Amino acid sequence: MTVCIVTFFSALPPGQAQSSASTSKSTTTLVIHAKIADGTGAPLRKADVRISGGRIVTIATNLKPRPGERVIDAKGLVLAPGFIDIHNHSTDGLETDPLAESQIAQGITTVVLGADGDSPWPLAPYLAARRTNPPALNIAMMAGHATIREQVMGKDFRRVATPDEITKMTQLVEQAMNEGAIGLSTGLEYDVASYSSTNEVVAEAKVAAAHGGFYMTHIRDEGDKSFSALDEEIAIGERAHIPIEHSHIKVSTVSVWNKAPEYIRVIEAARKRGVDFLADCYPYDAWHSNIKVIMPDKQYENPASVEKALRDNGGAQNITITEFEPNRAYENHNIAELATIYKLTPVEMYIRIIREGDAASTEASVIGKAMIEPDIKAFYQQPWVMVASDGGIGSRHPRGAGTFPRVLGVYVREKHWLTLPEAVRKMTSLPAQRLGWKDRGILREGAFADLTLFNPKTVLDRSTFAKPFELPTGIEKVFVNGELVWESAKPTGARPGMVLGLSRNP
Ligand SMILES: [Zn+2]
Repeated sequence: MTVCIVTFFSALPPGQAQSSASTSKSTTTLVIHAKIADGTGAPLRKADVRISGGRIVTIATNLKPRPGERVIDAKGLVLAPGFIDIHNHSTDGLETDPLAESQIAQGITTVVLGADGDSPWPLAPYLAARRTNPPALNIAMMAGHATIREQVMGKDFRRVATPDEITKMTQLVEQAMNEGAIGLSTGLEYDVASYSSTNEVVAEAKVAAAHGGFYMTHIRDEGDKSFSALDEEIAIGERAHIPIEHSHIKVSTVSVWNKAPEYIRVIEAARKRGVDFLADCYPYDAWHSNIKVIMPDKQYENPASVEKALRDNGGAQNITITEFEPNRAYENHNIAELATIYKLTPVEMYIRIIREGDAASTEASVIGKAMIEPDIKAFYQQPWVMVASDGGIGSRHPRGAGTFPRVLGVYVREKHWLTLPEAVRKMTSLPAQRLGWKDRGILREGAFADLTLFNPKTVLDRSTFAKPFELPTGIEKVFVNGELVWESAKPTGARPGMVLGLSRNP
């Protein structure tokens, strides 16, 4: 299908949208004595790298500094492409914190926003604001399925959409793609989207596919029914002929613990049939979401259902309230602790939190410690699984400030689950592959100079569930489009980030 893309966003080559401010280019920079992890997974090698005009211009051994050139001696450090976080919730955060300190501190140089079916609407004003007031890092935006569904159905979303409504939704996806979206995201486990039919999603995904976009999905169920949710996801990919990005892959209830190998086999079979399936995974055994998400049957006040949901998550002690406006006293306590404090059963406590939330038209944010390490390891060791945070600026989960250094420090250096070049590939060229970007996520001559320089001996996350905002160590310098944005453990203040679009054409 040929679609004429008329907006200037999409007509631009690989992520080359122009930022209208902050265009001052640094002088030429030479990084010497670095070991290079080029993003392809190739072994580390020694090379010097020259950056000019926002691009990597030369990679060679023994490059000699030129007069006036900035020289960075990177002895003992690894130079990698900047990390691309394909699932990042900094949409609002960037409006107030364009320096994105907690993100660039991890070596992230590009964030993809609009995940889980939730994006700004319309997209154009948001993206325009990022062009006039650029952040320190690059951004790209998904079109949110739930956002679009609400545009069409309003508050009457607790049902299957009519054919007319689905047609309207596809028109809005078309609009979003023309405004600069790079694909369609869904959060089918969440309330608004949970009522949608597979056909509705397929219809919208087809529009995104026609523009060369991809389908990013938080699937319908990540617990007991995660296998049928996976089947639906693969069917959507096949029917809409669209590449899939499976968000935060996990098997997160007791009944599916240890089933990662089986889950992987289903995905491998689909990949063999030609389904373009990639996934991302955050390096933690706990998820962060809303309190209702643990109850797929939506029987929030049915004691038997609540009891099962708590059991499915390994017990009430595994669900911790992180944010609850109606009653701040609940925050940082798990449901078992709260039950003891308030002299209730855990089931009664859960129902009480639901009722107090409903009365205030809100929902408690919770962290659920409901994944086990053998499953996380199995997922991480698949070549088609990349690193993504599902965090972002202000995240109350430690993944918001720790994801990328944690993989390098814990999964590579301490546990030896991955080699360093393979971990870097999962942070760079693999997400770039999903995004269709050939000039980012790779360290080669001509590519954009998005670069992260880190110390492989010290790189480590410091954020914890108790202190989620602690910044990591070992990320020495970060360049975005050739400009230094992170140095000496703080932002430089430069904001060279661009709004990136699709490079792929159908
Ligand atoms: Zn999600």
